[in-house]
Amino acid sequence: MAVQSEVCAKSVLTKSGISDYAVNCYYGCLHNCVYCYARYMRKFNNHTEPWGQYLDAKINAPEVLAREVTRKAPGKIFFSSACDAWQPAERKYELTRQCLKIAIDAGFSISALTKSSLVTRDFDILSASPNVSLGCTITTVNESIRRKIEPAASSSESRIQTLTRARKMGIATWAFCGPLMPGLTDTPENIEQLFAALSTLELDQILIDKLNFRSGVFESVMDLLQRFYPALTPMYRSLYQNQQEYDAYADRLVVVVTEAARAAGISSKLQLICR
Ligand code: SF4
Repeated sequence: MAVQSEVCAKSVLTKSGISDYAVNCYYGCLHNCVYCYARYMRKFNNHTEPWGQYLDAKINAPEVLAREVTRKAPGKIFFSSACDAWQPAERKYELTRQCLKIAIDAGFSISALTKSSLVTRDFDILSASPNVSLGCTITTVNESIRRKIEPAASSSESRIQTLTRARKMGIATWAFCGPLMPGLTDTPENIEQLFAALSTLELDQILIDKLNFRSGVFESVMDLLQRFYPALTPMYRSLYQNQQEYDAYADRLVVVVTEAARAAGISSKLQLICR
């Protein structure tokens, strides 16, 4: 059973390596993706629960952000780098919604990435600014796999519909296909089906990433594999322990992805960050 609480934050507009700034209205993320890199945040969050099992809502985030946007130089804000901005608690708290409005009104541009169709609730705000782009993470159209690796996120189909609706409302859209997981979502069959679905969308960009084992991801993924896909565990252990082998794997992934993109007619949109 996940633990949820309310806290006050001192700052929410933080410097980011992804963009100029990042805003995270929550500590923790109940989407609980098996490959989540943000699990390293646990050491800063004073929680004993595992990553994916706790959430602190920064209930003063809009108030703090309203002050910070008057003091910091305008730039691009990424929503969100260490949680999903539209995870289930956002339905109740509307912290992301309020922060988006404050940031846009103050002249900041927005880049958002989510796995939740709840973002459609905020299309009125996102579509009102030309300086907004919305991405959805989609790594598979196989719901059986999706439910195991991203258990509390929206279905891939509903993310595809979300991007379709966003584009119809004039919002710039992109897809993040990452991380592709060895033997699960990096298979030629999965990539072909994924690209076939994405080729029907009007996307500006399709980003591809490979799995990284840092920050406790290896342990998290191995736990899942042992439960559902035990035959894959030797390959993962080997990729984790042998950098040369992992580099060779990444090279093969680039070839598979590039060829599948060409076949699906989406090569011009592809950006490989898995090299
Ligand atoms: S939605 Fe993003 S932040 Fe949340 S658990 Fe999944 S990967 Fe991590």
